[in-house]
Amino acid sequence: MALRFYNTLTQRIEDFTPLEDNVVRMYTCGPTVWNFAHIGNLRTFTFVDILRRWLRYRGYRLDHVMNITDVDDRIIQKSVEAGQSLQEYTAAYTEAFLQDTATLRLERPEHLVRATDHIDDMAAAIHKLTEKGFTYESDGSIYFRIASFPGYGKLSHADFSGIRAGVRVEADRYEKDDARDFALWKALKPGEPGWDTVIGRGRPGWHIECSVMAMKYLGATLDIHAGGVDLTFPHHENEIAQSEALSGQPFARFWLHAEHLILSGEVMSKSLGNFITLRDVLAQGYRPEAIRYLLTSVPYRKKLNFTSDSLPSAETAVERLRNFKLRLETGKYAQGVNQSLIERTQQAATRFEEALDDDLNTAEALAAAFELVRDANSAMDAGEFPASNVAPALEFLRRFDAIFDVLLPTRRESGLTDAQIEALIEERNQARKTRNFARSDEIRKQLLERGVVLEDTKEGARWKRK
Ligand code: AMP
Ligand code: ZN
Repeated sequence: MALRFYNTLTQRIEDFTPLEDNVVRMYTCGPTVWNFAHIGNLRTFTFVDILRRWLRYRGYRLDHVMNITDVDDRIIQKSVEAGQSLQEYTAAYTEAFLQDTATLRLERPEHLVRATDHIDDMAAAIHKLTEKGFTYESDGSIYFRIASFPGYGKLSHADFSGIRAGVRVEADRYEKDDARDFALWKALKPGEPGWDTVIGRGRPGWHIECSVMAMKYLGATLDIHAGGVDLTFPHHENEIAQSEALSGQPFARFWLHAEHLILSGEVMSKSLGNFITLRDVLAQGYRPEAIRYLLTSVPYRKKLNFTSDSLPSAETAVERLRNFKLRLETGKYAQGVNQSLIERTQQAATRFEEALDDDLNTAEALAAAFELVRDANSAMDAGEFPASNVAPALEFLRRFDAIFDVLLPTRRESGLTDAQIEALIEERNQARKTRNFARSDEIRKQLLERGVVLEDTKEGARWKRK
C-alpha cells in the first residue's frame, strides 16, 4: 500500500506523492515566541519531526519551511510589560525553543525563518492584494475582505456564505466560528513597534506572515502544510484566502493537522494557564527520550491525554527497548539460525512500515516493535535465539530508531566525579540540618543541571546519573 495521509481539505485519506520530482515542499507553522513552548506545542512539533523522518525513509528529499512568529499582539504586550525591545524579548524565547526542540531530537527544517525578517515581503504582498481588490482600509489598518474570496471555508468545511461583509477583527487570535474580515496590516497604537514600508508605517497581522514566507521559499503550491488542529480555523483558512487571492493557484495540496495534548480534560494552553513545559518535566528527572517517546506514542490525529502515569510508562517502554538492544549486542549466542523468528522479524518490519505509511500510525508501529521484542526475549530465555538472528533484529532496531530516535541516551557531560557528587550531597545534608533550604535547593538544581538526579529517602539522599 502507498504512503497516505488524511487531508483536512478533502476530508479523506489520500495517497501521497509530491507534485514535482522527489522533493516534498512543506510548510509548518512554527512557535509564537512569547513564552516557553509547552509539551502540547511540542507534541505538534514532534509530529512534524516524525512526518519529516518518514518522508525521508520513503526516499523523498525535503524542502521544509518553518516560521518563527516573533511579532504579534501578545508578544508586543509581553515585551512592553518586561520593559524590553521586541528583539530582546523574542531572542530569549527563540533560543529556548531551539534548545527544547534539540533536546527532543527534532530535526531542523531546511529553512527556519523569522517573521520580522520578511516585513517588506509582507507589505509587498498586501500591496498586491489591494491592487487586486481583496482589501480595504479602516482606521489605518488594512483588512482582507472575506466576501471577495468565494472559496472561504473550504478547509474548515464551514459555510460562511452568510457572513456580514465589513465586520472586522483586529486581534490575530479570536474565538472559533467567528468569521470576520481579518487584519493584514495593523495601524500602530502608541508605543507599539512598527516598520516603514511601501504601504506605510505599521505592523503585519499574524496570518499574512505564513502565506508570504511559504510562497517565497516554496512557490505558489505546496505539497504539505501542517500545524496543530486549532490552527485550521481561522489561521489556515485565512492563509488559503490570502495566498490563493495572490497567486490564483491552489495553496497547499495536503493539509495535515495534529490533535491536541490534553491535561485534566482540557486542552493544554498557555492562555488557559494549564501548561507544563519541557523544562518542568526534565527537572522532575525524566529523560528527554522518554518525553519524545510519549509524544510520538499516540497517532497524531488522536488526542493525547497526559496523566501522571504517562511519563513513567514511557520511561519503562524506552528502557525495555534499550535493554533488548543491549542484550542483542552483548549476549553470547550459539551458532545457527531460528528461521521462524527471522520470518517474524521480517513481518515486524513490514508491519512497522505499513503502519507509518498509513497516515503515520505510530501506535501500530510501536506495537510491531514491542511484539518483536517480546518474541525475541522469550526465544533468548528459552535458548532458541542463535547468533544468525542477531543482525536482523539489530537491523529492525536501526530502522525503528531512524524514526523514533529513542535508543541512544542523551550524552550528558556532568564533569562531576562520584566523590564530587557525594561531597555536594553532604553539603546539602548539612544545609538541610541548619534549615538552609535555599542552599539545599540550589545544590539539587546544580546537580540536576549536570545530569544527576537526587531522590530523598528515609535512609538519606540517593542519586543517579540520568
Ligand atoms: P503557538 O506557539 O501558540 O503558535 O503554537 C505552536 C503550535 O502548537 C501550533 O501548531 C499549535 O496548533 C500547537 N498547539 C497549541 N496547543 C497545543 C496542544 N495542547 N496540543 C498540541 N498542539 C498544540
Ligand atoms: Zn501559519
